[in-house]
Amino acid sequence: MARKKTEVTSNRGETLPVGAEADVVVAGSGPAGIAACLAARRRGMSVVLVERFPFLGGMSTQIPIATWPLNTAVETGEMDMPYDGILGEVLERLQKLGAIELKTVLRDGVERFVPIAGENDNVATSKWYLFDPEELKFLYFDMLHEAGVKLRVNSLVVDTVVRDGAVEAIVAETLTRREQIRGRIFIDATGSADIVARAGAPAVYGSGDNDGVPAGLIMPTSTTFRIAGVDTEHLDMYETAVIYEEHRRRGELNVPLEGLFWQVVCHGVIQIFGTRVFNVNPLDPENAAQGEMEQRRQIREIAGFLKKEIPAFRNSRLINTGVSVGMIGTRRIRGDYFLTQRDILEAKKFEDVIATGTYRLEVWEPEGTNVRFNHLSGTWYTIPFRCMLPRGLENVMVAGSAISGQYIAMATWAIMPMCYKTGQAAGTAAALCIQGKAAPRQLSVPLLQETLRRDGMFLG
Ligand SMILES: Cc1cc2nc3c(=O)[nH]c(=O)nc-3n(C[C@H](O)[C@H](O)[C@H](O)COP(=O)(O)OP(=O)(O)OC[C@H]3O[C@@H](n4cnc5c(N)ncnc54)[C@H](O)[C@@H]3O)c2cc1C
Repeated sequence: MARKKTEVTSNRGETLPVGAEADVVVAGSGPAGIAACLAARRRGMSVVLVERFPFLGGMSTQIPIATWPLNTAVETGEMDMPYDGILGEVLERLQKLGAIELKTVLRDGVERFVPIAGENDNVATSKWYLFDPEELKFLYFDMLHEAGVKLRVNSLVVDTVVRDGAVEAIVAETLTRREQIRGRIFIDATGSADIVARAGAPAVYGSGDNDGVPAGLIMPTSTTFRIAGVDTEHLDMYETAVIYEEHRRRGELNVPLEGLFWQVVCHGVIQIFGTRVFNVNPLDPENAAQGEMEQRRQIREIAGFLKKEIPAFRNSRLINTGVSVGMIGTRRIRGDYFLTQRDILEAKKFEDVIATGTYRLEVWEPEGTNVRFNHLSGTWYTIPFRCMLPRGLENVMVAGSAISGQYIAMATWAIMPMCYKTGQAAGTAAALCIQGKAAPRQLSVPLLQETLRRDGMFLG
């Protein structure tokens, strides 16, 4: 790909200073963005990461979400999720820091992490990693610094400069100015396809055509919160969840999510995932504000209920809520391939596989009060490279939750372990493209696969 001369105006005709320039520009510091940066930088590329918040980690540190699935259906013989490549490295580093533990979750009587399984979830036992999101914030800074990735935080991507189907620069709003970040390959790891949408390429908000549900639906949002001062020594978590659910079903709690999902973070502190708000549109500021308010109302209600009704919570206090509501599936791209729930359930093996996963098909029904699960039988599904290539853009790849696929199935590949994998694939592909002077669509997929395998990824 020929490098174009420096462009100084945005699509809206503004003159913009150049804030940074690199071979590979990554937007978004969730698991996908982190892995993309490391993969590209370790292959000798200059890399700049652009993130709107002053800390890294995406939803895992913002909400925060502290669990990664390993195996979610022990009884069916489901294969463990491969913790390969950069995902495996992050796991190892967290283990060295003493910041991650493997938990076995039983259907009843559970240590530390207690979901009340949905009625359609017939699986009793699963294995999850429970990690410390605060340590992850430190670790990400360490890893990117060690690799030599240039960081730009407090930088919200608000526009792009596009010429002949190629992005020349993204435009970031910083606290003092609007500037352009120039690059040769752009990796959109914003979780909401912000670069792609700003560049005018197809990106769908909520459900669209062929999405497995009627068009125009939005998955519910949720978040987590932490309560301290809990008598965790004497807390019967399963019994508490049962009492909670009985009250909720009697209409004494105005919270639409069935059951409480929670973890003991450390002595006296628990983290709860229990809220659900429907029809929140983060792209609409007024509607988003309503959603945030409703989420916090539910948090107060749950924390208040536990304090009043459960003796172990008598001296408890709500100490932390996420920075925002969390949503799976804001915008997704329409790419060269559209991954379906059938591909996942049938564990389809694509020739252009760049990542593998075993996580069950998780469906956050747009109007449901639970999460519905369908399990894979004993093998792994694959993510094709084509899912990361947005239609209409030549030098952009999308990694993480916003890759191209059916809305109804996306929570499956949006789990963090899968996002690291597509991130690593995108970062590696970007480096190979630049080295081979090729656009992503011209890249030799066997070369990409060989390189990913050499870097420790399991592709089957
Ligand atoms: C309530 C809830 C519970 C979940 N539970 C689990 C779980 O238990 N286990 C699991 O593995 N997964 C879980 N997930 C899913 C998982 O957290 C996300 O799908 C995953 O974090 C997506 O990773 P990502 O890298 O694609 O994007 P994100 O983690 O969303 O990161 C995107 C990053 O991009 C930044 N960004 C966005 N837009 C811009 C912009 N315009 N300019 C600059 N920066 C920008 C954001 O600030 C963020 O840092 C859950 C999700 C939700 C909502």
